[in-house]
Amino acid sequence: MTLWTQDAEPGHPYWWDGIAWAETHDALPEKCDLLIIGAGYTGLSAALAAHDCGASIVVVDAGDPGKGASTRNGGMFGAHPRLGWSTLARQFGAEVADALFDEASSALDWAKDLIAREDIICDLQQTGRIQLAWTAKHFKNQNALAQTLADKSRVRAHVVAREDLAQEIATERYYGGIVFDEHCGIHPAKFHQGLMRAVLARGIPVIAECPVTGVERRGSTFAAATSRGRITAQKVLLATNGYTTDTFAWHARRVFALPSYIIATEPLAANLIGHLAPGRRMMVETRARHSYFRISPDGTRILFGGRASMVNVDPHVAARRLRATMCEVWPELKGTRISHSWRGNTGYSFTHMPHVGEDRGLHHAMGYSGSGTVMAPYLGAKAAYQAMGDARGQTGYSQTDLARHWMHPGTRPHFLHAANLWYRTAVDWTENLKSR
Ligand SMILES: Cc1cc2nc3c(=O)[nH]c(=O)nc-3n(C[C@H](O)[C@H](O)[C@H](O)COP(=O)(O)OP(=O)(O)OC[C@H]3O[C@@H](n4cnc5c(N)ncnc54)[C@H](O)[C@@H]3O)c2cc1C
Repeated sequence: MTLWTQDAEPGHPYWWDGIAWAETHDALPEKCDLLIIGAGYTGLSAALAAHDCGASIVVVDAGDPGKGASTRNGGMFGAHPRLGWSTLARQFGAEVADALFDEASSALDWAKDLIAREDIICDLQQTGRIQLAWTAKHFKNQNALAQTLADKSRVRAHVVAREDLAQEIATERYYGGIVFDEHCGIHPAKFHQGLMRAVLARGIPVIAECPVTGVERRGSTFAAATSRGRITAQKVLLATNGYTTDTFAWHARRVFALPSYIIATEPLAANLIGHLAPGRRMMVETRARHSYFRISPDGTRILFGGRASMVNVDPHVAARRLRATMCEVWPELKGTRISHSWRGNTGYSFTHMPHVGEDRGLHHAMGYSGSGTVMAPYLGAKAAYQAMGDARGQTGYSQTDLARHWMHPGTRPHFLHAANLWYRTAVDWTENLKSR
């Protein structure tokens, strides 16, 4: 069976088609108040916040701005905490768990407001997001989560029983689900380019192809070495998440790159799409190697993402694996061809939670653990406010932790090879057994 459409370019993200990339700068200024390293959602949002504080800012990126995760992701736009309240309370204390649950709503409202305030056209649609229960136990946990959300937060969520699931998705695979009503879908590259234009319109230089190769503290200032020369900055903010290199060893030991893969189908008939996903929501599963999927903003394709592997594999291999998983959910798609297959790095922390803080004067926001379309711009702004000494920087995410783990003693996540094998065999086998 043919896998690819005729015009497929394996490796090329669907979201890059038709994007008019904003112009960047070539010359690196000699000095600034705040140097921001990384021009994804975190770095650009940090630039807007610091500009609001009156700082002079320079943003540098090792490659083309946005071509990290911020133009490659699934475009699922929401911010419920990745962990349950009791897990958060056990790890960080009840007060922090309360604060994080409270910020789930405020972060999403803040990010929607950012899009409105900066007039960013990014196909924002309030679709809601359904998390689909892989096992009966997962569905039971979702009922408990809905209750905790009602008690502890302003997040609007409701559960959907298995017998009602057909109104959301045409498949027998799941035991029910929980819908986060306020979550949205966006076009991630348009969102990124909207942020770029907002930054450039303020006269802030964004320098592409400018990797920072070292940062030295000199008294109360910092000197950064880059491929385009040196720059002196009063403050430095690291916004490199899943692309952090061993230049920043403290961070690379705490946040590791975990690849995530997505495919796009060829355009499908409108009635087929309506049949497969009548709820037209963002969709994500509860199983450990979960898949996440959605209809494209123009309503013509299915975009299907997941952990085709926890290590880097070729887009052909990833496409074959993801299409096979997609056809387990929707056997109707067996003959469907794939037009795009790409990957990007998520930045995982060992607590599965992001963190805003500083190490020896170097500020950071990172560790979004696969959920950063809202949290990265939100926490990027928080990190910038903290760097500028502005009270708006206050957040519960300064009380989370970028913990280290014995499995990851260096800066490269070699343990992922063993983890990949473990998840693809033992974990999958156990979860599949429980799902029957
Ligand atoms: C395939 C995929 C699907 C995803 N789907 C979703 C989703 O549906 N919903 C959701 O909420 N989240 C999702 N995410 C996560 C989300 O995309 C990220 O959390 C978010 O984009 C992180 O933004 P960022 O700005 O921190 O990092 P990035 O956008 O990754 O940017 C980091 C930048 O740092 C630069 N950099 C690194 N080192 C240096 C250096 N030394 N000098 C200069 N620059 C440097 C890199 O070049 C890069 O451009 C997904 C991620 C991936 C990969």
